[in-house]
Amino acid sequence: MNTHSLEIRDSGRGHESGLASRSERFLRDVVAEALEDYEPRQPQIDMLRSCAGTIEKGGVLLAEAGTGTGKTFAYLVPLLAAGERAIISTRTINLQEQIVSKDLRFLAGLNPFDYAIAKGRSNYLCLRRLNSFRPSDERENEECAELLRWASKTETGDIEDYGSRRVLVWDRVCSDADACKSNQCAFYSSCCYFGARGRWNKAQIIVANHALVGINAMLDPDARLLPQTNLLVIDEAHALDNVLSDVAGLTLSNRGFDMIMNRLLRLDEKGTYRGLLSQTPDLFQAVELLKTEMGLFWVRVKNTVKHRETIKGTFELKSQLMGLAEAIGGLVEEMVSCTTGLFHEDEELEIKASIIKLKAFAEGMVGFTDCRDGATGFVRWAETEEKRIALRMSPVYPRDFMMSHIMPGYRSVILTSATLSVAGDFSFMTRVLGLEGAETLSVPSPFDFKKQIEVHIKRGINLRQPGSAEKLAAVIIEEASRGDGGMLVLFTSRESMRAAWAIAGAALREMGLNPMVQGEMPNRLMLEIMRESENSVIFGLDSFWEGVDVKGDSLKCLIMAKLPFEVPTEPIVKARTEEIELEGGNAFYEYSLPRAVLKFRQGFGRLIRSKSDSGRVIICDDRIETMAYGRTFLGSI
Ligand code: SF4
Repeated sequence: MNTHSLEIRDSGRGHESGLASRSERFLRDVVAEALEDYEPRQPQIDMLRSCAGTIEKGGVLLAEAGTGTGKTFAYLVPLLAAGERAIISTRTINLQEQIVSKDLRFLAGLNPFDYAIAKGRSNYLCLRRLNSFRPSDERENEECAELLRWASKTETGDIEDYGSRRVLVWDRVCSDADACKSNQCAFYSSCCYFGARGRWNKAQIIVANHALVGINAMLDPDARLLPQTNLLVIDEAHALDNVLSDVAGLTLSNRGFDMIMNRLLRLDEKGTYRGLLSQTPDLFQAVELLKTEMGLFWVRVKNTVKHRETIKGTFELKSQLMGLAEAIGGLVEEMVSCTTGLFHEDEELEIKASIIKLKAFAEGMVGFTDCRDGATGFVRWAETEEKRIALRMSPVYPRDFMMSHIMPGYRSVILTSATLSVAGDFSFMTRVLGLEGAETLSVPSPFDFKKQIEVHIKRGINLRQPGSAEKLAAVIIEEASRGDGGMLVLFTSRESMRAAWAIAGAALREMGLNPMVQGEMPNRLMLEIMRESENSVIFGLDSFWEGVDVKGDSLKCLIMAKLPFEVPTEPIVKARTEEIELEGGNAFYEYSLPRAVLKFRQGFGRLIRSKSDSGRVIICDDRIETMAYGRTFLGSI
């Protein structure tokens, strides 16, 4: 990661009149001059001025900026002109990387300043763990050798720089707070994680992500990971509430538990014990017993609670859960007495880390049973899939977390996205995040959607009824037969996507196209293939409704299989809508509809990414015409 020292100075032209004027001059005189294809855009100037105002005065600004506004420069330029340290937060690593490698690198070339990317700890390699890692088979041996070669040359130790290959041993060699010796570590001076922290501390602009900002806010002030700043910009702010709900929530899963236990003790295919406790036979029975009991508990969860069913009142399996929490405590005590002083220091550290994780798991179990639905503003539910079973708990809204943990840390907070309002009304977003009273701004896209996009509505397709998958597949094939470029088909349910794929996938291939379906290869790879071609057809779910940035003929047609209403029985959705109804509100108009419209706009925005883009949007849900609320969708684009 490059770092530079920064100062945006007044251009010297005329009288300096506040941050907005200085920023505007810098944009017009310096940035515009340096960018060959820069076109002045009033919406960008409007947003830049509002951001400058919030940075100067303090407070909260929700700035909605349509596609093509150039919103990143609209907040970056005043941040730099203010000369204060700032944190920028994004939802995705993609946008994090883009801001750092494109926008900040460019701006630092004009006027040097320090900047750095900040990711969660587990993204960085731990040199101590890698060097003390003992492979248990040939595959682990090979991975380890390759990681050691990479470690000798990487400047960052960031897994992103390792390449797209999946590293199966990564969770055992990545940086982990529970297994870190900090400044007592022999590798401290070359440590990838502390090296990154050092760059964050030196940087004027730190590009973090929502999860890291949330986790940071939960720590004691003297234990915070990110440096203290007065300024926070939350980009991709439409996704903030979901990320914060996860951060402030709890997940207890069979996979998470098995991962901790298998680190301690597991049988390999030859029936030999492997793991940190494989040389401590005194503990074998206790570990195996706990594994068995926990396994039986997950089966009970599966037999007792339906998939994604809300758990209200006293949890039916409370006594079993509490018994297991106690059993974990018992194993921890035995581990402490049987292992202290008997292991090599590195192994002892790993065992200690497992003990911390086991204790946290047990505390989570107690927290889950203690929490009574409604009383604490939390909602609890179970997820019982074929192989994964989990107990989940999440705040109904993250607004309390936002108000108590995030907001007090900053003088000025700017939240921005292409979709924060429904036809200019921000009340949905401000209520979800507890930001009533914030300043708002909505600037339009400079693109001419009416000229650039043809919208077609296909009637008679209702994916909730049998036979509709065939009709939808026929539309996909018909649109693809035009052969004028790439297609993105957006679904709201996996079953519908699979059903349409089963019918259309082979037919599209026979037409000489390149169809791909989410889940069969990494999303990022699918998008790379689409960008490089003009005949790709992607069938995608949630993650393709936003963040997809494919220009030109590589993406010419967008098909929405259904209006993106959230499933009303989803635990968080249900809790939120129930809360609104209890307060005498109308949950459909106050929650379900605005939520769906925001997602619809996100999906819609995938098609036109530049002034020269054009294409078709096909909406395969005639409720957009037949229902009164359909106008809200159409009026929002
Ligand atoms: S300081 Fe911590 S994270 Fe860094 S190499 Fe040592 S143990 Fe690993």
